Amino acid sequence: MPMLRRAAQAQALPTDTRRAAGLDTVARDCTGRLRAIVARQLRAADDWSIAWIGCGCDLCATLETFLASRSRRVLEWPLAKDGRRHVHTRIDSAGLPVLHQTRRQGRPYTLVLTKTEQLFTREQTARRQAEADLTWLTSTWNTLPAGPR
Ligand SMILES: [Zn+2]
Repeated sequence: MPMLRRAAQAQALPTDTRRAAGLDTVARDCTGRLRAIVARQLRAADDWSIAWIGCGCDLCATLETFLASRSRRVLEWPLAKDGRRHVHTRIDSAGLPVLHQTRRQGRPYTLVLTKTEQLFTREQTARRQAEADLTWLTSTWNTLPAGPR
C-alpha cells in the first residue's frame, strides 16, 4: 500500500508505466486481500481465542490449548527455566497479544500468561486501516488519469 500511495503521488506516472511496473497487479492483489480483511466477522466481545500453531512439542501443545480457549484469559503454569524460556520465545517471536511473567515463588517458578486487550484493538485497527486503504484504492487509484497514448 505505501508503494501504491507513493506511485499515485507521482502525478506524471502514466497508465502504461504503471502496468509495466506491475503496479496495477499489485493494486488488484491488495484489493482482494483488503476485501477479505473487511469481510471477516467481527470478534465477539467475549471471544479470547487466538489461533496459533507451535513447534509440535508438549509445551507448545499446552500453549495452543490455552490460546485456543474462548474463555480462558490467564494460565498459571509451574514450569522449569528451560520450559519458560521456550514459551517466552514462542510468544515473542509470534508477536502474540499475551503477557508473560514469571512468579518467582515455589519450585519450579510459575509462568503466568495473560491474554491482553491488544487481541481486540489490533484487529480493530487492522480492519479500520483496511477499510481506509480499500476506499483509497477504489477511489484514488482506479481514477488516476490515463497517460498519453
Ligand atoms: Zn515448542
